[in-house]
Parts: sequence; C-alpha cells; structure tokens
Amino acid sequence: MSTPVTLESIRTAPKVLLHDHLDGGLRPQTVIDLARESGYDALPTHDAEELGVWFRDAADSGSLERYLETFAHTVGVMQTREALVRVAAEAVEDLAADGVVYAEVRYAPELFTEGGLTLDQIVQAVEEGYRLGERRCAEAGRKIRIGTLLCAMRQNARSLEIAELTVRYRDAGVVGFDIAGPEAGFPPTRNLDAFEYLRQQNAHFTIHAGEAFGLPSIWEAIQHCGAERLGHGVRIMDDIKVDEDGTVHLGRLAGYVRDRRIPLEMCPSSNVQTGAATSIAEHPIGLLAKLRFRVTVNTDNRLMSNCTVSGEFAALHEAFGYDWADMQWFTVNAMKSSFLGFDERLALINDVIKPGYAELIG
Ligand SMILES: [Zn+2]
Repeated sequence: MSTPVTLESIRTAPKVLLHDHLDGGLRPQTVIDLARESGYDALPTHDAEELGVWFRDAADSGSLERYLETFAHTVGVMQTREALVRVAAEAVEDLAADGVVYAEVRYAPELFTEGGLTLDQIVQAVEEGYRLGERRCAEAGRKIRIGTLLCAMRQNARSLEIAELTVRYRDAGVVGFDIAGPEAGFPPTRNLDAFEYLRQQNAHFTIHAGEAFGLPSIWEAIQHCGAERLGHGVRIMDDIKVDEDGTVHLGRLAGYVRDRRIPLEMCPSSNVQTGAATSIAEHPIGLLAKLRFRVTVNTDNRLMSNCTVSGEFAALHEAFGYDWADMQWFTVNAMKSSFLGFDERLALINDVIKPGYAELIG
C-alpha cells in the first residue's frame, strides 16, 4: 500500500539538493551565538524565534535593501574558522534531518575574508565542517554526502581566482563552480576567462541565470560560458508560448535547453519571495515538469525562505498533485545532474533513491 503523502512522510523520502547557499541556511540561534562570540552587534534581535521571523519577513518584504541586510548578518558572523566549521557542520545535520542524502551547498569564499582568513583557509574550514557533519550524521544512522560549489560574486572581479580555487580543491570536496549576485548589469560573459579556465581543466560549473533577468542571461550562460546547469532558469518561460487550446510552442533556446537536458535548479519559495514567480501554484515548474525539462527542486536559502526540500515538495504536492513517482523523478533528475562522478551518481540512484521511493510507493 502506498504511504500517504504528508510533510512527515516526505521527510523520510531520500532527496537530493543542488542549489542551497551556506550563508542562507544558518540556524537563528547559531547567528545569535556567533554574533555574541565575535562581538557582531548589528542583529535586530537576540531572541532566536524572533530572529527567524525577522529573516523571513525581511526576505518577504519585496525590498532589496532589507533582503540584502539578511545576508549582511549571516555573512557578518561567518568570519572565523570556528564559525565556518560550525555553520557547515550544522547545515549537514539540518539537511540530513530533512532526509537529504546528497547536497551541493554553495558559498562565495570572497565574502568571508574580513577577519583575515585566506581563501584557502576558508575552503579548508568549510570542508572540515562538512566532514564533521557527515560523521555526526553517520553516527546517528543518517547517511548524507555533501559536495561544495564555490561561487564568485558577479559584481567583483575575482572569478578566475575562485575558479582556480575550485580546481585546487576538487579532490577535497569541491565539485563545481558558480557565479552569484546581481544579474542585471553583470552578464556572465564578464567572467569568460574563468569559464574558459574551468573548461580547460575539465571542471564543472553552473550559473545563476534567468532569475531576475531574462533570456539573454540564460543564452549567454549556456552558449557563451558553457554552463552545465542553470541556477533558477525560471525565465526560460519567456521562450515558451502556450495557445488557448493548450498547444505548446518552444522557442529555439527553450528547445535547446530541453533537448540538451540542461538541468534547471528551481527554487519555488525563493522565487515567490523575490518576485520571479507570483505563487507556488503559478510557478513555471508545473509547466516545465509537464514538458519534461530536466527540472530539480531546491531551497536556495533555507533561513530566509524558512524552507526545506521536504517543505518545497509538500507545497508542490499541494499545488500540482505530485505523487511519490513525481518526487522520485525530481530526485533522480537532481542526482543525474549533480557534479559527482557518474559511478557515484548511479550508486546513489540505484542503492538509495529508488529503494527509498519503492518503499513509499508500496
Ligand atoms: Zn541561489
């Protein structure tokens, strides 16, 4: 018999997460503890529950200033080795508690140098935290694996340096590269040297594209930079027309993205908060999944959006009626699209994901 789909049962299903920001996923209490330890005095409140609500409200407010302020606080308390180890280890524990079996968690090392850490020390600290978290989870009977994506910020000019850092640590937990930050005014082609270097090194990368900005950003990311995946990519909808009778017409770019099976790292709650989608029920993920684009379901910023992968699945189940077979499809999509080696991806799909869903489907 099939297990009823509830938030609780979704938590027991194996899930894969490809788009999650380390500095967007702290526990409110940890932000408070780290602020106290480091003398950071700009937090709006020192009550964990209130702070959690404040983060969500600020991210919900529609004001870019308030949204960016949320990251000023999390980044502000992540400037020491100890803080990075703790935040990374807790992220692993929180994801494992949500039933995530593999996650690619990303951050921009250049944001954590204010306390004097070098880029190498930052990567080493975060990897130490991930391994610590993985060990703690394994001891508690939950197996989870974390791969790191290093981001360069679009508005800074350090992408080649971060690309080199990515390659330097690729045998130590870093699986890929990304560029993040404001899309408008900072096209991905500004970082062509970084992408060329990564391709020469046979390294993997995704690009935040098609969230705030439309088709040109997606087109540049794929055709000029060579992105293997798209962070968000919701605006690919601008290249899809649906007639009144339901006939669908894909433009050349949308057709290319689907034909090439280019993964879309979709983040429903985050997209609603930033206005990239009007509601979960109207989120492009419904049509894109129906058209069999390579869609994956992600959190983006668990603290700011007060979300989990399970919560996103539950919301999608409510909006679109997705069942266990659909959730397995999203999960296998994500695993296939990860930057892990082929044999490791296959092992997780066959040994963990499919048996997990088979049990729920009954
Ligand atoms: Zn993101």
